[in-house]
Amino acid sequence: MRRAFRFVVKRVFSSYNLAAAHHARNLLEVEGIRAVVRNELLSSAMGELPPAECQIEVWVMREEDAERAELVLKNSFFPKNSPPWNCPSCGERCEGQFTQCWRCGAYRAA
Ligand SMILES: [Zn+2]
Repeated sequence: MRRAFRFVVKRVFSSYNLAAAHHARNLLEVEGIRAVVRNELLSSAMGELPPAECQIEVWVMREEDAERAELVLKNSFFPKNSPPWNCPSCGERCEGQFTQCWRCGAYRAA
């Protein structure tokens, strides 16, 4: 029984980068959205670059927070004044100063 995760209902962020996942969760906590990081132990066991199925994930605890959480993350990972690029993995539009897709964690093509 893993009762602590009973209310974890929606994934709002995933990344190969543990620091990015924790950063995302912190952004949500600041906004009063309860969220948890999952798969971080799996990731550390796999080393720096876990396979796709071992992406570190951030889940919100309440379904009604999910939409706002995605907005918070999108605004945070999409600052203004930078030329955008399209993620080679999921096609998401990302801002130029980032080397990693905010949504799926894929790295920008060189
Ligand atoms: Zn992507």
